[in-house]
Amino acid sequence: MIDSLPVALVTGSTSGIGAAIARRLSHEGFAVVVHSRSSVEAGEALAAELACATYVQADLAHDAERVALIQQAVAAWGRLDVLVNNAGISRVIPHADLGAATSEVWHELHELNVVAPFHLVAQAAPALREAARRGRPGCVVNVSSHAGVRPKGASIPYAASKAALNHVTRLLALSLAPDIRVNAVAPGLVDTPLTAEWTQAQTLWRERSPMRRAASPEDIAQAVALLVASDYLAGEILLSDGGLNLT
Ligand code: NAD
Repeated sequence: MIDSLPVALVTGSTSGIGAAIARRLSHEGFAVVVHSRSSVEAGEALAAELACATYVQADLAHDAERVALIQQAVAAWGRLDVLVNNAGISRVIPHADLGAATSEVWHELHELNVVAPFHLVAQAAPALREAARRGRPGCVVNVSSHAGVRPKGASIPYAASKAALNHVTRLLALSLAPDIRVNAVAPGLVDTPLTAEWTQAQTLWRERSPMRRAASPEDIAQAVALLVASDYLAGEILLSDGGLNLT
């Protein structure tokens, strides 16, 4: 029975948006591979809570651990249908404070937010192509940011890394179709522990966004599920900002 379930790997899924995506895809009938860098207890607890799930730990800053994560995800049920590249890091630096945006910050954000998702897709591509042979294209969803679409965001290196991820999404969509569909969800502000103190942004979303609120992690999980459910969408960057970009 479990053998026949499609399998989804969600990176960074013990907290915030990733945990909501893991829960949503489990609800949609996927066997889920929960992943985190360090919170083993939370990962095992979430995997135990879901109908069919397992937990894998890997620090995505390291090449070897990226390779091991995909190997373990595929080994869990012998297949991989969906990869959600949700893990990412941010640094809050006022855009005018150019000195604080050091090369170290640029390299760290680029490595985690661009290079790691790309390498995970490269590692997962053979297994995702197999999904197409079973009848549905494999699927990648990258979690980028509205900061990668508009000149906004926690810092210039963060916004630039997410803009790069959006472009990588389109490039991969083109090169991997028709066997693998690649898309991105680009959230605006999302209510997570990370953004609880971002009062200015909270006010902006409450007062200026057409939807009059920030997104919940479940809103973003729903957007990811829409892209996963499609048989046709490829290379889309689904801006999920409650319409703030319209104002
Ligand atoms: P979060 O901090 O709860 O989630 C980030 C996840 O990435 C965590 O699980 C963390 O363990 C993982 N991660 C970080 N470094 C890692 C590493 N070296 N190896 C493995 N995993 C690592 O924050 P979140 O808000 O849920 O963010 C999830 C994604 O959504 C991120 O890509 C973030 O950039 C993006 N995003 C968030 C918001 C927001 O308002 N919260 C807005 C736009 C985009």
